[in-house]
Amino acid sequence: MNKSLVLCSGGLNSAVLVALAREAGPVALLHARYERPPAKREADLAARLAAHYKINDALVLDLPHIAALRAQFTATASTSTTSENAATPSATTRIGADTPIPGLLATLVGAAATAAAAAGATRVWLGLSEISARPGEESQPDPAQAREFAQLMECALALTSPIPITLETPLIDMTRGDIVMLARRMEIPLKLSWSCWTSGDTPCQNCTGCRSRARGFLDATTPDPILTRPVSPNSLNAPQAAAPQPVSA
Ligand SMILES: [Zn+2]
Repeated sequence: MNKSLVLCSGGLNSAVLVALAREAGPVALLHARYERPPAKREADLAARLAAHYKINDALVLDLPHIAALRAQFTATASTSTTSENAATPSATTRIGADTPIPGLLATLVGAAATAAAAAGATRVWLGLSEISARPGEESQPDPAQAREFAQLMECALALTSPIPITLETPLIDMTRGDIVMLARRMEIPLKLSWSCWTSGDTPCQNCTGCRSRARGFLDATTPDPILTRPVSPNSLNAPQAAAPQPVSA
């Protein structure tokens, strides 16, 4: 039976992904840690999830350069948006703490492929279900874009890897609501997941991660086990408040 390596962020999709991969056979788990507000909590949850599913082969990969490069990127982007020469619409993109880091996802897939080869795994599992259409905008479900990314990455791995490595993306056509409903059917402990992009002890309910998660639980008509009271649909219809500024390295 082919061994799988699951890229686990500690988020909601990751919890479901780990459960699905575990059903399919032996699993190794990789959590990539880089400096951002919920990093410690996410690493703890990934470890607890591995323990819950009795996965002994769990690795934490530190990427300390990401925070420094991110700080440099946001500073450069912020400067360009205020310059007199930046008059194009794309240059007015909001840069905040929830702005995706350019190239990060591809970096994580590459690291996962390396870890898979080291663990004797030939399948890398990714929790792709949505990719932000444009950095700085709130994520919108876009299965076509996610599928294209996965296909291109699989081609890149085929061209650069001496052993065949496939990408498994079972959530790619699912909405957040679908994923929560699947988790409920599989009795996956979603209390062992975290989606907020801030460092608070409770979810901020404003960041892109919180809003996307809340939409999923609302659509699934299921309470979120990490909240003490349910989210109001009205709060999700309200405009997202300005994201906090990025944390410097
Ligand atoms: Zn949040």
